Amino acid sequence: MRFDILTLFPAIFDGYLGQSLLKKGIDAGLISVQLHDIRRWSRDKHHKVDDRPFGGGPGMILQVEPVVECVEAVQQLAQPQGLQPGHLVMLSPRGRTLNQKIVEELAAKPRLLVLCGRYEGFDERVFDILQPDEISIGDYVLNGGEVAAMAVIDAVIRLIPGVLGDEESSQHDSFSRSNSSSGNRLLEFPQYSRPREFRGHEVPEVLISGNHEQIARWRREQSYLSTRKRRADLLDDSKHISKDEKD
Ligand code: SAM
Repeated sequence: MRFDILTLFPAIFDGYLGQSLLKKGIDAGLISVQLHDIRRWSRDKHHKVDDRPFGGGPGMILQVEPVVECVEAVQQLAQPQGLQPGHLVMLSPRGRTLNQKIVEELAAKPRLLVLCGRYEGFDERVFDILQPDEISIGDYVLNGGEVAAMAVIDAVIRLIPGVLGDEESSQHDSFSRSNSSSGNRLLEFPQYSRPREFRGHEVPEVLISGNHEQIARWRREQSYLSTRKRRADLLDDSKHISKDEKD
């Protein structure tokens, strides 16, 4: 899968790209990431890409020309290599709020263009002309889209086959499609590792029983109970809940 990140601050991604799963995915040829500095498309000799808002008000607005021209150039860049123009994601607090369903949708695309805003955001015509998929990572305002872009990319790459060491781990993840038989997207069950006992807190007996059927049943139950306790909003009672989840 290919990501093209369009930003005013490409260096913010340096550490992130060189670490952990993303680096492994890049090294294995499963992921490619290209960074594009929007300032290169500035029409100003000082590489300025922002200006004051018409009608007055505080702050600066990202100008329409450099942003639209940068996106169009990046879309065309890959055509000689036979790549699609890509699905354009614009990070924006007014976008649809990211969740695992959207992550699955994005992970199914072969190429994502990820457009990061700054200042007081984009000139509205960027939206009118490019019709991007606006994505928010929550109801709060960040200083720029870069951290949000990393959140999107980080979630998406977990679903790219081969990126996680063990394919099953993303299937057990909270909110994942395959986490429940009931059709509800549940939180993950509690997990334990060694030691078996710490300060009087013991690992549930069933997990060391070696009985895979019982372990699977216990995990389904715990997933449901954890979701009911922490995120009851995720449960749709009209959906069938299996007996061991309810018990
Ligand atoms: N004035 C804008 C508003 O009130 O909606 C906020 C602009 S914000 C300071 C600058 C940039 O950060 C945005 O263009 C967007 O790219 C990014 N950003 C801020 N909050 C975000 C969020 N919750 N989700 C995704 N991107 C966000």
